[in-house]
Amino acid sequence: MTLKADLVVRNATIVAFDGTNHRYLRDGVLAVAGDKIVHVGKNFDGVATRTIDANGKLVIPGMISTHAHVGAHEGARLLLDAGRRDFVRSGFLHFLPARRDGGPAFLARQNARASIRFGFAALAKQGVTTVLAFAPAGADNGETMLAAAKEMGIRLVWAPVIAGGRYWIDNTGKLDRENDEKAGMAALERSVAFIEARKGKAGGMWSGVIALDEYLVSTPALRKACHAAAAKLGVPFTLHFIEQHREFYETMQATGRTPAQLLADEGVLDKRTLLAHCVYHAGHSLVGYPMEDDVGLIGRSGAAVAHSPVAFSRRGVAFESFDRFRKAGARVALATDAYPLDMLGEMRMAAIMCKTVEKNFEAAPAGAVFAASNLVGADVLDRPDLGRIAVGAAADFVMIDTQNLTFGANPDPIRALVHLATPDMVDTVVVAGRTIIEGKKLRVADEAEIVADVAASSRAIWDSLPASDWAGRDVATAYPPALQNWEG
Ligand SMILES: [Zn+2]
Repeated sequence: MTLKADLVVRNATIVAFDGTNHRYLRDGVLAVAGDKIVHVGKNFDGVATRTIDANGKLVIPGMISTHAHVGAHEGARLLLDAGRRDFVRSGFLHFLPARRDGGPAFLARQNARASIRFGFAALAKQGVTTVLAFAPAGADNGETMLAAAKEMGIRLVWAPVIAGGRYWIDNTGKLDRENDEKAGMAALERSVAFIEARKGKAGGMWSGVIALDEYLVSTPALRKACHAAAAKLGVPFTLHFIEQHREFYETMQATGRTPAQLLADEGVLDKRTLLAHCVYHAGHSLVGYPMEDDVGLIGRSGAAVAHSPVAFSRRGVAFESFDRFRKAGARVALATDAYPLDMLGEMRMAAIMCKTVEKNFEAAPAGAVFAASNLVGADVLDRPDLGRIAVGAAADFVMIDTQNLTFGANPDPIRALVHLATPDMVDTVVVAGRTIIEGKKLRVADEAEIVADVAASSRAIWDSLPASDWAGRDVATAYPPALQNWEG
């Protein structure tokens, strides 16, 4: 019987999955019918509606970002990431200038739709085909999120994030936080309802996750309830975990246990659990507490880590390390975090950071880093149909243009991808058989409009900063720019 395909990609170097490992398939052919890959091999004798000659292209599985803030303040993040002394300079956006005495929130002027569309479009443009998004419900109970993912054609793993408390800043600039278990439990209920109402209806383009905003603003009861709800729904459980220095010390002071030990004792550290960041554990050089083996404990538990090295590198902090966690048995999957939403950059930084931490150029080999961008994420999301180019897998793949002065003529394309590739080399992106990027252009939406809309949203946020900042400061005062303006 003649195989009929909707799309055939020929003459490519394909990274094909043999059931156990990725392999180079040189001068290979890939055929797609509907939303599935129906053929991978040296030849194809079937008929095709559409053929792409991929000479000079490297075809890789669609990348999976296991932790991304798709509506994350579009670019403002670079300024806010400076860190606060209160957080031992390891702070994140928890210190968004929310004033204790009320007043407009920092993001009150944000155009949420513009921000979210920017996030999904940026992910698509950079070869991410599946994303586990970390975001609140928004004003419309998530409809904007779902619509933007659908518009851009990206697979979305998401349900509204559950906050078990909040941070605030008083009128002297002092940072504090409070737990609110009741609010957290109510948010969990809403998240469960969100998932139950949609489960099984999105044809694999959307699935749920129980996402607890943060370890440090959650109680043991809330964490246990979240984990139990995730188990009942059959979805992953994820949370921001020891991304700040103080999480380790406050937990030790309050409980006599490390944060990882506490999660293990609570019964919430297992194969279902995805720890976002997981930096400041016992044994990390900046923690200075080598007396416990948190890495071994996390490895034995079967838990996974969403590793996004770029954001941490800007704070002078390294994950310790990609290889140590893997050797301990933990699954380390890559993630884009907030900005930029660039998985190629994350791959390169994951390799460099691990090699630097281990002082060993053989650490974090390119093949392992590459697998962390696809196979490992698929495993964490329990999606054996994703992250691989194989017959029967989802038709999610990316064509990288390797004919350029950066890539050169490299005999080892995956090593080159990890160490040389930049987002502008992403030529074609196909998700579920649908081409969303072609010839380096976004096909499903107007890229210029997305950039203009997000710039307006970003300007509105920054212009309104004096109203939300605890000291009424403008952006140049609160976050001094790299260069001063030329006046006159
Ligand atoms: Zn995050």
